[in-house]
Amino acid sequence: MNSEFANSSISLWDMFYVGNTRRHMHKDVEHIPQHIYAQAWPYFLILLVLENGLRLWQKKDVLRLNDSITSMSHAILQELFAKFVFRGSEHCLYFWIYANYKIYELPWDSTGIWCFVAIAVDFCYYWTHRASHEIHIFWAQHQVHHSSEEFNVTVGVRQSVFQSLVGVLCYVPLALIVPPVLLLVHQQLNLLYQIWIHTETISTLGPLDYVLNTPAYHRVHHGSNLYCLDKNYGGVLIVWDRIFGTFQELRPDKPITYGLVYQKNTFNPLALQFFYNFHVFHKWNIMKGWKNKLRSVVKGPSWIPGLSWTGHDGRRASVPGRRKKYDVKISFAFKLYLLIHFVAVIYGYSIYLTEIPRLYSGPVRCEAASREITSRLVAHDVTRASDSRLVIPDLGYNY
Ligand SMILES: [Zn+2]
Ligand SMILES: [Zn+2]
Repeated sequence: MNSEFANSSISLWDMFYVGNTRRHMHKDVEHIPQHIYAQAWPYFLILLVLENGLRLWQKKDVLRLNDSITSMSHAILQELFAKFVFRGSEHCLYFWIYANYKIYELPWDSTGIWCFVAIAVDFCYYWTHRASHEIHIFWAQHQVHHSSEEFNVTVGVRQSVFQSLVGVLCYVPLALIVPPVLLLVHQQLNLLYQIWIHTETISTLGPLDYVLNTPAYHRVHHGSNLYCLDKNYGGVLIVWDRIFGTFQELRPDKPITYGLVYQKNTFNPLALQFFYNFHVFHKWNIMKGWKNKLRSVVKGPSWIPGLSWTGHDGRRASVPGRRKKYDVKISFAFKLYLLIHFVAVIYGYSIYLTEIPRLYSGPVRCEAASREITSRLVAHDVTRASDSRLVIPDLGYNY
């Protein structure tokens, strides 16, 4: 590794965004550990055991096997799509803008800049997440994360395979000053932080509740009760919600019903990944006029003609109280088989899939080529030929 500080492994502290910053400083994208998120599996499993221990101690039910396996299957699907379908292509626009239009190059090895970028990426995450809820076609993807009727750490890894595409434009302004390597690291660490806040076992973080997104705030975000809808979009910091008017405290008098307003009763991860897109298509079909058809795709899921972008509370569908959770009764032997089978899948995943890079060579080459040209321009004396044309001999370019 070229990087002075680079270390491809992560620590348990990284799950809380308080790991050693120097471990995640990399000079360029060629040396970035592309597996930060995937390497977190052992720590995720530690959190899973801890949470269940706490739930038992607090006399709550332990996690449901069917729902938890479904959630973790989404994580594997997301990783498969990232590594075999997208392969980092969602970052191409960012790389291209940074290579061609950056106005300043922030240093990669400054702790101050590292912290600044952490906050900037979190700010962009807020808008990505808000767009995921308030733009119908984006919600059709993000609803996967909200499709569990439970709230535990396994829900933290239940993600849409298309989620990385949803947020592309929200991060692009950073490309004017933030090196891609810093963006990629912070995007992954930001997601890691968001895993542990999916728990009902922690009610408060004390004074940190003013600035951080906490399990209590995120419980609200996952509620399908009316007062919970479109609230608490923050990733690591809750201050963005306080500033932009989307903050909502947990209300102990209103028990939260987790899941979608129109819950899809299945544990099939593929069905949950794609079913909502048919709703978007259906809404498009029943709208009159092309303007309304277009609005039905880009405005909020509850929008109908005549209402504001996200609809208004009087017309919004919500879940008024408790509802019976979807369940499938199977024998203990079958549950045991499922558990053993899934552990084998996770083992195979952690051995093989985590080693495959998420970034294909395209974005990396793009950045490397731009650096190569810059360094060669600096390394070679640029001489003016006798005919006054600017000549850069080593590259063979005549201007
Ligand atoms: Zn959400
Ligand atoms: Zn969540």
